[in-house]
Amino acid sequence: MIKAVRGTRDLLPPDTALWNFVERKVREVFARYNYQEIRTPVFESTELFSRGVGEETDIVSKEMFTWEDKARAASEKTQSLTLRPENTAGVVRAYIEHELGRSGLLQKLYYIGPQFRRERPQKGRYRQFFQIGAEVIGPQTAGSELPMRDAEALDMLTSLMDAVGLKGWTLYLNSVGCQECRPRYNQALREALAGVKDKLCSDCQRRAETNPLRVLDCKVPEDQDIINALPKIAEYLDEGCRTHFAEVCAILDTLGVPYQVNPRMVRGLDYYTRTTFEFTHGELGAQSAMLGGGRYDGLSEQIGGPKAPGIGFAIGEDRLVLALQAQQTEAAEPLPAFVMPLGKGTNRHAMKLARELRSAGIAVDVSDESFRLKKSFETAEKLGAKYAVIVGENEVAADAFNVKDLKSGEQKTIARAELAAFLAG
Ligand SMILES: [Zn+2]
Ligand SMILES: [Zn+2]
Repeated sequence: MIKAVRGTRDLLPPDTALWNFVERKVREVFARYNYQEIRTPVFESTELFSRGVGEETDIVSKEMFTWEDKARAASEKTQSLTLRPENTAGVVRAYIEHELGRSGLLQKLYYIGPQFRRERPQKGRYRQFFQIGAEVIGPQTAGSELPMRDAEALDMLTSLMDAVGLKGWTLYLNSVGCQECRPRYNQALREALAGVKDKLCSDCQRRAETNPLRVLDCKVPEDQDIINALPKIAEYLDEGCRTHFAEVCAILDTLGVPYQVNPRMVRGLDYYTRTTFEFTHGELGAQSAMLGGGRYDGLSEQIGGPKAPGIGFAIGEDRLVLALQAQQTEAAEPLPAFVMPLGKGTNRHAMKLARELRSAGIAVDVSDESFRLKKSFETAEKLGAKYAVIVGENEVAADAFNVKDLKSGEQKTIARAELAAFLAG
């Protein structure tokens, strides 16, 4: 038997109803904030990610699906391609390539789609996973650097949580500074770590040399007291970064968006500047982060574009759906009606009635004239249909149908012209 590749999975009904519900709410809520959809290719030049996401990150150094794409014609070059491990680099690439900044307007873009990372297989982690993300990017003159853009993105996310009905989330907020002040913090961290790193776990010891900020992500219980005593980034922010962060917090306070400042939250990607954030959810256990994001004021320049500050986030759709399932959110709608042809030659009449109902916006399914009535009713029950509509010769002749409420057992005869309205009500 050929099975789905390890680390991938099939999303099956009825679960897909919840996925569709989430995506429908995303489109509704994001549209209210004037975001528009962008769709970028699922594979890009490897260089985009090594330059955009950063060579030092786990994503680029260990987790990418990369292959040599051989030239097929003289006009082509052999190139290194990669399945996108995240979508921000692709969106910024598209922003640069299509000169979206020329309008002088902020670009408010969102995407929904699969991303690919060769992670070690573990519960709740998939090698093909789905992200819902958004980016606000544009020339500085469009206000892309303003703290209110950060606050607006966070406000939109809390609206989305309300729209999907998710409760029990926590928003963690931090500032990781800019190219000016973060190196000073890095230096302070490196110096502080030199004194204590022998007491830390092996991952921390390695990170203390390569990327000291990553030490702050360590989850090893024995390391926590030492890490909590390390210098905090807030003490090293320069004037510009400090006022920017204070303003983001002040707007959130005014909007009534609840958050907690977490000085250890630095996120796994090198491109973040200033504001970073995460939403966690208690039902998700150790992998409690459900979405994360931040500002990336230097990313466009890093991949060869103009100055275009921006802020964005990505929601792990797999995890959001998991959190919703944990609180038993039901999204599957019952099937309104099961049309049952009864007797030889009635299939086409049933099909005609089904077509009329479907045109009127009613979802229906159809049985078969060869089924005995008992089998049709059993099928209707398995499908979870609300009503059974019987199409026998007498009904066709009378142009009125016997309709049975499958829960109460109540039956009535309803004229063809009234049937759609009855089923919709
Ligand atoms: Zn700064
Ligand atoms: Zn550690």
